[in-house]
Amino acid sequence: MPAYVKRRKQTGKARIVARAELPTRFGKFTVAGIAGRAKGEEAIAIEHGRISGAKSPLVRIHSQCLTGDVFASERCDCRAQLEMSLREIARKRAGIVLYLPQEGRGIGLLNKLKAYGLQDEGLDTVEANRKLGFAADSRDYDFAAEALKALGVRSVRLLSNNPDKIRQLERAGIRVVERVPCRPRTSRRSASYLLTKKNKLGHLLEGDRGRRGGRR
Ligand SMILES: [Zn+2]
Repeated sequence: MPAYVKRRKQTGKARIVARAELPTRFGKFTVAGIAGRAKGEEAIAIEHGRISGAKSPLVRIHSQCLTGDVFASERCDCRAQLEMSLREIARKRAGIVLYLPQEGRGIGLLNKLKAYGLQDEGLDTVEANRKLGFAADSRDYDFAAEALKALGVRSVRLLSNNPDKIRQLERAGIRVVERVPCRPRTSRRSASYLLTKKNKLGHLLEGDRGRRGGRR
């Protein structure tokens, strides 16, 4: 049995239910399946290096985007962010991509496709979600925080442009010691989507390297 199988204690509301090696073109990783107590609470963690004992590993929390992650859609920057995260984390001693099945900022795949149809008629991503009766962003990071705790992580350097994600994680007991911008080169086709994320969802897209609250 590989050493990583018994590496961590499983505590809290989420638990690790599977672990296996995952070689990728970005580097060697381990994939872990994490389950919560409630129905539908699950995530997978793509881990690199020794997470246990790492002080504040570089972490990307990525919400599933089938059209971007799998089909390389240029409507959004998801796949570019995912690839950048895997590449950056593979370079570090330790890090994690936590992949959450909350498609379409939490509204589900089919609703996201409906929203795409509305966007083709001229609405932006926020207007389209609202027209369908959803919030601009329905994602929830409480379970992500529990998943990180199950992996033995309490403190992270977070690859993210999303201040709301940082607020939710900190409220749920994960310390974000640094925000590392996640700004890969993206297609011109995703420019208006990114502009809406910046103007309506408060994403930080200046490419600055912000340290939050100094050393904590
Ligand atoms: Zn996407």
